[in-house]
Amino acid sequence: MKTEIIDIKTEYDRALQESARLLQNGEVVGIPTETVYGLAANALDETAVKKIYEAKGRPSDNPLIVHIAKFEDLAPLVREIPEKVKVMAEKFWPAPLTMIMKKSDRISNVVSGNLDTVAVRMPKSEAARAIIKNCGLPLAAPSANLSGSPSPTNAKYVFEDMNGRIPLIIDGGNCEIGVESTVISFAEDPPRLLRPGGVTLEEMTEVIGEIVVDDAVLNKLEEGAVASSPGMKYKHYAPKADITLIKSTFEEFKAFIENQADITALCFDGEGKELSCPFVEYGDISDGYSQSSRLFDALRELDEMGAKTVYARCPDTKGMELAVYNRLIRSAGFKIKVL
Ligand code: AMP
Ligand code: MG
Repeated sequence: MKTEIIDIKTEYDRALQESARLLQNGEVVGIPTETVYGLAANALDETAVKKIYEAKGRPSDNPLIVHIAKFEDLAPLVREIPEKVKVMAEKFWPAPLTMIMKKSDRISNVVSGNLDTVAVRMPKSEAARAIIKNCGLPLAAPSANLSGSPSPTNAKYVFEDMNGRIPLIIDGGNCEIGVESTVISFAEDPPRLLRPGGVTLEEMTEVIGEIVVDDAVLNKLEEGAVASSPGMKYKHYAPKADITLIKSTFEEFKAFIENQADITALCFDGEGKELSCPFVEYGDISDGYSQSSRLFDALRELDEMGAKTVYARCPDTKGMELAVYNRLIRSAGFKIKVL
């Protein structure tokens, strides 16, 4: 299969027409969103959704997020809309925010990974909403990477992973947020944060009060434990390099790596020039959004450099940094060293 790329900025009409034609015909299309690129298919067509799992090589018990363009599209997908979801949608949507509810019988087990719930998001990206609106379908879409590798934040990375596997990628430029959406479940009360992302725990708590933070957000799941979010149990965001997070000041970090041979540093902006080893920088030390927009690109750059052993500066766990920490600790296989 030949994979075409259409730039939505220069060919808006053709991008919308071609994506709608393919999506309505049960095909898979790579689409831009503000979080990361998605692999989209008609959420109401089991055969189409199965093609997503095939293209990604994703385990089929890992459910997909259903993307909608307006609030009225939510009701048919869920059994009922909890009050707190209405408040959250009013406050945040469109946003990098995914809300889980009991599913309606229109959502097949292929989408929900055999769970009785469904995850729904209204993306902030204008391009994503235009694509959804124009094809007139709710779109199931996971991140557009091969299962296990870092999520793609530009069309070039989608092409690297998906060339020959899907017919079309819509190029919408670089993703603003750069890590996947916040996932919060309203299938229980108080709601449970399953994955931190572009809408922070602090922002949500201000609107709906108590939120339980799932263990898997910060910690490794115990062997054999049942994951509330199946995606949490898979090895994720892993570059080929062996990464260890170093929890320390920059001075301590510098002293520590001076004594190591053949290593690469993953550090904050402006720090690299003070190090004597090769390095990749992943954003401003005091700005979680700057870090999130750089993180996955930085992980791919480490691979491009052929890095083998990587020592990474450790982000904070407050605000947007919680999402950065959550991804980086997984890419490090939970290896963390406190100096
Ligand atoms: P991705 O599509 O790569 O952004 O991953 C979607 C994430 O949402 C995965 O970690 C899934 O496990 C999680 N997810 C999707 N649907 C549900 C659901 N119904 N219940 C719990 N987690 C879900
Ligand atoms: Mg993913």
